[in-house]
Amino acid sequence: MNATLLPLSDPLPTPSRRGAHEANKLAKRLRHQVGRAIADFGMIEEGDKVMVCLSGGKDSYTMLDILLQLQKKAPVSFSITAVNLDQKQPGFPEHVLPEYLKSIGVDHHILEQDTYSVVTRVVPEGKTMCSLCSRMRRGALYTYAEEQGFTKIALGHHRDDLVATFFLNLFFHSKISGMPPKLLSDDGKHVVIRPLAYAREEDIAAYADARAFPIIPCNLCGSQENLQRKQVKKMMDAWEKDTPGRVEQIARALGDIRPSQLSDPKLFDFLSLGKRGDADLPDAHAWLGGDGGRAEDAGDDATP
Ligand code: SF4
Repeated sequence: MNATLLPLSDPLPTPSRRGAHEANKLAKRLRHQVGRAIADFGMIEEGDKVMVCLSGGKDSYTMLDILLQLQKKAPVSFSITAVNLDQKQPGFPEHVLPEYLKSIGVDHHILEQDTYSVVTRVVPEGKTMCSLCSRMRRGALYTYAEEQGFTKIALGHHRDDLVATFFLNLFFHSKISGMPPKLLSDDGKHVVIRPLAYAREEDIAAYADARAFPIIPCNLCGSQENLQRKQVKKMMDAWEKDTPGRVEQIARALGDIRPSQLSDPKLFDFLSLGKRGDADLPDAHAWLGGDGGRAEDAGDDATP
């Protein structure tokens, strides 16, 4: 399979004139947001071979569609290959994606790996399987990317995923950390990009609807969404209802971090801040040890 530079396929037939109008409006906004994310994070450069991971959900269809549109006028030349992993869930309509990808003329490959059997065997009944399933999916896709020499792996996570992950880490792992628009995989072999990082889920859903993508649901395995993620989503939905625009504010805040206004001495050198003199500052051990250590070290009387 060769990753070749392909022209943008014809637009899909849209269900109605209103649908077409809506799709055009949304396409413009999404192109703008994706283009900005690509530029802000240096996601794609000249000669890149981009593997676009396609699950059959609204997000990845939209990502592929918008990237193909941008590719036509991009300031750099790069190739796009859509890759789907058929995880062998019962009832997975395996003809849908190849037919769609053929119809739009995009270079593509369907990987087959029965992660479903492994996940159902390993995860106890009634527990959510998504986390192991996603890890295995990632592993299979990364391996394929390495074999084929793809220089970028594009995933369809959007703004709302980035915000939700931030809160999951905050609420359940006591960490200020999220899902970055661009990252190097743990083994340093892959650069993962999230071109939809600035795009709202609502827009993506409306766009996918207007474009009538042949959506494949990601619940064929019957697994329930992780409870913590569900809670966070519920919270964000309630915010959007009661205080529209709050999620956008948070998403912007994720790109405007001020380490000196937080409390992590690894990110900001609080020790040097306003420090007088060159002497080393006593560490916590010295402070917690009372005045004995200082008296001994300094060789003078520590009593006031
Ligand atoms: S819903 Fe099923 S297929 Fe989708 S991530 Fe979860 S376990 Fe995997």
